[in-house]
Amino acid sequence: MTDRIVIAGAGPAGATAARTLRAEGYTGRIVLVGAEHHGPYRRPMVSKDLLDGTREIDRCLLEPEKYWAESDIELRVATMVADIDTDRRRLWLSTGESLDYDALLLATGARARRLEQHPPVRVRSLRRVADIAPLRAAIDDGPLLIVGAGLVGLEVAATARGLGADVRILHSGAAPLDRTVPPEVSTLVADLHAEHGVRIENGVRLARLEQIDRRGVVATATDGRTWTASSALVAIGAVPDTALARTAGIAVYDGILVDEQYRTSTSGVYAAGDAASRFNRPRDRHERGEHWNSALADGRAVAKSILGQQITDIDVPWGWSTQYGVSLQFAGWTCSYDELIVRGSIDSRDFTALALAGGALVGAVSVGRPRDIRAARELIATGVVRPTAAWADESTDLADRAQPPVPAAR
Ligand SMILES: Cc1cc2nc3c(=O)[nH]c(=O)nc-3n(C[C@H](O)[C@H](O)[C@H](O)COP(=O)(O)OP(=O)(O)OC[C@H]3O[C@@H](n4cnc5c(N)ncnc54)[C@H](O)[C@@H]3O)c2cc1C
Repeated sequence: MTDRIVIAGAGPAGATAARTLRAEGYTGRIVLVGAEHHGPYRRPMVSKDLLDGTREIDRCLLEPEKYWAESDIELRVATMVADIDTDRRRLWLSTGESLDYDALLLATGARARRLEQHPPVRVRSLRRVADIAPLRAAIDDGPLLIVGAGLVGLEVAATARGLGADVRILHSGAAPLDRTVPPEVSTLVADLHAEHGVRIENGVRLARLEQIDRRGVVATATDGRTWTASSALVAIGAVPDTALARTAGIAVYDGILVDEQYRTSTSGVYAAGDAASRFNRPRDRHERGEHWNSALADGRAVAKSILGQQITDIDVPWGWSTQYGVSLQFAGWTCSYDELIVRGSIDSRDFTALALAGGALVGAVSVGRPRDIRAARELIATGVVRPTAAWADESTDLADRAQPPVPAAR
């Protein structure tokens, strides 16, 4: 019987799991342990409204503070799950307290990836609320050099420009956001930043990032080019936080490995969110999400799994990014396709780009068409195959079920 559930990590995955357990009628003890100083909050705001100061943290919380006590969820902030004895199903908190559990959920999220060299004082990263103040000081100090043109680097660039900072981005890839969107959409992103005065240098292989004196940093590429700025932000992706799982002997490979039911290799221990790499049966591989909506979906599903329900959902990742007021939405696997069809116009920033493989939709990227993304997620999950002309036909709604789909072969 499951009477005591402990959740390590009070991000969206952990918090949603706790909420779902109560919503599903679970009456046992729930302890939600979070390393950060705040209750669960909307992390996407960290690079947007919280960074530019248009919102305070109190307005970014997932739930008002009183919600947790009212729901009989024991929220422990500024506390870490420090160690686990999986044989005795007992764990220790950083406060020294020990807790016994029947089920343990590891929702420890991810950390900002760092450069190999130890970053000097004027080099920042961004993941948590605690990272905001030093980065904001760096922006106010300007100019800012950003290493990495992924989602976080680009969003910070947009926010920093809005605050009047001079920004330059160094990117190792061929185009901004090239790991998330097709080249046609990367071009739009590059144009958007150019219009706002942000220079993006692609194909930069960084040799060193150093502090030159107390007032600046210098980045040196392997080809000898150099760039100087007052401060730098390293935004080169995230690494799953698997430290706790590793020390407990739980299987890890680019994330804590879980099956379709979110079960780790160790009995009674589950994992979800950015920290977890879940088996995706249709794609026959483990995959790890790094998007807000996926973390929420994981939280809901893992709670049901802990309560003994069978989870059959196919996880189609989807996320969004807002830069200069333009909201880019994406779903599925947007970089592995054999045909790309654009409905609408990328140039006029009103489009949905459909990534097709063998006539089936595998990914979609959109600006200004959220309905399409909702429809695309379902179409990707069901794997229907349509002729190219049917996918391209703008006169029919993407979600129109009246279109004759060819049953998927996968
Ligand atoms: C700056 C930024 C902007 C983003 N913007 C977007 C966006 O616009 N759209 C989008 O779709 N996604 C966005 N994301 C991604 C999204 O926020 C993440 O995918 C999501 O937060 C992952 O949720 P999670 O609960 O798995 O992990 P996290 O949110 O990382 O939360 C995990 C929590 O667990 C804590 N923890 C770790 N170890 C322990 C331990 N041993 N004991 C206790 N607590 C522990 C961590 O400190 C952290 O608070 C953004 C991410 C960042 C960093």
